[in-house]
Amino acid sequence: MPKPAAKDSSEDETGVTRVSDRLRLAPGPVRLQKVDTRATPGFQGSKKDAAKALQLLGPRLADLQERLFAEGRTGGSRSILLLLQGMDTSGKGGTIRHVVGEVDPQGVTIRSFKAPTPEERRHDFLWRIRRALPAPGMIGVFDRSQYEDVVVVRVRNLVEPRTWRRRYATINRFEESLVEKGTTVVKCFLHISKHEQRSRLLSRLASPDKLWKFNPGDIDSRAEWEPLMEAYADALERCNTATAPWYVVPADRKWYRNWAIMNILIEQLEALHLEWPRPDFDVEAQRQRLLASD
Ligand code: AMP
Ligand code: MG
Repeated sequence: MPKPAAKDSSEDETGVTRVSDRLRLAPGPVRLQKVDTRATPGFQGSKKDAAKALQLLGPRLADLQERLFAEGRTGGSRSILLLLQGMDTSGKGGTIRHVVGEVDPQGVTIRSFKAPTPEERRHDFLWRIRRALPAPGMIGVFDRSQYEDVVVVRVRNLVEPRTWRRRYATINRFEESLVEKGTTVVKCFLHISKHEQRSRLLSRLASPDKLWKFNPGDIDSRAEWEPLMEAYADALERCNTATAPWYVVPADRKWYRNWAIMNILIEQLEALHLEWPRPDFDVEAQRQRLLASD
């Protein structure tokens, strides 16, 4: 009898590779320039196949989200926080549209973080983050996050080095407290190449319906690419905890990015073993009452 093929550690009992395990950042030094941003780990097939797969996965995500929501409505405390980081054009918005867009909008809160407003600046860097956290039962999505305060802030010298250096530990403690309170923190770094960014910016400049997304400052920030990557590598390395790990998603191919993040979300929700809440009333008695009414 032929010996069954050896299973790699990222396969579950059905032999399906868990995308979470494939993309979860390994502990230790982070070398972002070593990551192939065009790679499609865990996916065999074409862009077309990925679109088909995504169509099948959408309803699964929607079902899990509804269970989470139902749990939150019946006293549960769990929630999901999907945190998206990446360079301009890396696809944070596209991920929200194509992945998060598959679920009931009533169960989702989306918050994007820009340069702090004067009011936000008067508080500590986590103030605006705390106010945007998902309520029980919700999927919260962060388009940029507390990580801007150890990345862009560091590269542009917006605070003293000793200030941003202290923030790694502050972020780790903060995220750990979220997890303790029932929030699954899913941190995705959408990793594109500098070359891919160039072609995405060019295509924005080439079509009237994309011009509004173009920001001349995006070209200036390309000059900061290497320091930003260095700051990202440090942030990912120092805040890659067991309770709130980072996922590095190769994002040059939009269809892979969507497929991968869809799977990560589904896998993280499945790990919650969400059950439909049991009614606190007698279903049959209620049915009889209803039938007896006119
Ligand atoms: P966008 O997401 O393209 O609308 O751009 C938002 C901009 O706000 C980006 O350039 C971010 O780097 C910047 N930003 C976000 N958070 C911070 C922060 N805490 N400090 C400084 N700049 C920030
Ligand atoms: Mg932008």
